[in-house]
Amino acid sequence: MKFPLLPIAVIVLLSGLGVSRLRAAPRVDYFSDNGYGNPVSTLQHPAAEHFDGVTYVAYSGPHEDPYVAAYVHATGQWLGPVQAGVNPMGKSPDQVDPGELDNHGRPALIMDRQGYIHLIFGGHGGEASFGENKFGTAGKGRQIHVVSQKPGDISAWQTLENISPFGTYSQWVKLANGDLYLFYRHGSHRSDWVYQKSVDAGRTFAPEISVIKHQRSADKTFVHDSWYAWFDNGRGDTITASYVYHPCASPGHTAQRINTYYMVMNCRDGAWTNVQGEPLALPVTKEAADQHTLIQATGQEKSNHGSCHVDAEGRPHIFFRFPGQVRYYRWDGKAWSAAVAVAANYGKGVDGDFQIETPLSVTALLTQNNAGNGEVNRWQTLDGGISWTKDATLFSASGLSFQATALVRNAHPDARMLVSSSSAQPAHLYHPMYLVGDHGALGRPAAEAIHLGDRLQTIKAMPKSRAKAEAKARKKAGHDDDEP
Ligand code: ZN
Repeated sequence: MKFPLLPIAVIVLLSGLGVSRLRAAPRVDYFSDNGYGNPVSTLQHPAAEHFDGVTYVAYSGPHEDPYVAAYVHATGQWLGPVQAGVNPMGKSPDQVDPGELDNHGRPALIMDRQGYIHLIFGGHGGEASFGENKFGTAGKGRQIHVVSQKPGDISAWQTLENISPFGTYSQWVKLANGDLYLFYRHGSHRSDWVYQKSVDAGRTFAPEISVIKHQRSADKTFVHDSWYAWFDNGRGDTITASYVYHPCASPGHTAQRINTYYMVMNCRDGAWTNVQGEPLALPVTKEAADQHTLIQATGQEKSNHGSCHVDAEGRPHIFFRFPGQVRYYRWDGKAWSAAVAVAANYGKGVDGDFQIETPLSVTALLTQNNAGNGEVNRWQTLDGGISWTKDATLFSASGLSFQATALVRNAHPDARMLVSSSSAQPAHLYHPMYLVGDHGALGRPAAEAIHLGDRLQTIKAMPKSRAKAEAKARKKAGHDDDEP
């Protein structure tokens, strides 16, 4: 493992303390050891944002509660992690069977225009006892919104009861003017994808607007049209949606997801169009999606959401995930490029996100497993995605694998992606958390990074079968987002 480069200010500070003191304080690459279950994913996003010189990160910690930490770039200091709320799906005591964890309620984080930190977490569709779900079927948990009590201060939080409880896969999109959009699936599988908009920094939200519709399939009466979607900023005041179709069958339910789709919203009037600019009626049905927004029909091959960004022309570039690989698509103004498997000949397993420099130049940050090492690698294409080259390994660790998030919003080069690690032979469900940038992971003194206290002593040794189940669950989670 590499040690991070310390900012000059920290080196000066540490020199003042004397070299012996520096040697006496061993550093670790992680900033906290208390990630729990599947602590992060690319789906609940952003997981982190850089704001006024500080990178704020959020993940699931003990009891699947949301935890927040902050890295101050000028001083190289970490703050936290701090528990920011209570996940209603959390279980006590600590679980050792990964199947006991829900994982859907992991947090998404956004900074409002005044610097308050907002989290959404705790939802897996909401319970039926909350009342009528106008956009689908109830599930578990409760979608909860908390905000820091002071701007930029992770130490104290309050709950704001101003959003629907029936949410899961919650995602924040912030416009340049500070308007906040909260996108989520409004319930369990058989539910619409909706958004709520806030123009007052998350203090109030307009009612839900349904974007993608669930309904009984027109083709097969035992199948329900269902979706997995990923939303983010487009060019200017627009928001993109990249999504896949889930044929939700009953009886005979499977995790099958197929096809790839894209559309975009003009935030000035809330109107959605397809990539050619043709208007779409809301909410978009399976029939309309197939007719107007389909990128590729994948047949029986399983597709899954990845991430989507637009270039200076406003043209989308998209990652979708397929078993064992990420595929890149690009709209060139007239047509979608053929899907290209990124980094397909390197190692096993891949996930991550990317940023666009020019329409032909794109840089991806990918978590990969190679020859027994977990790696966070930077890959680049200079020919519009036709070929990809590994540019650098930003961070690696023997015997571990890393789980990716979407890129840090407004990222500082030293802090581009929050990742969690897992080992092949886990003894419990806790996992170290890392913040990785161009110079490796931003670690901290071991004594500051250890937050489990005596928890590990009270966890019974995990039986070998459980360890296997954990490995299996992780593998599955990488592609299935903790279904059902
Ligand atoms: Zn389903």
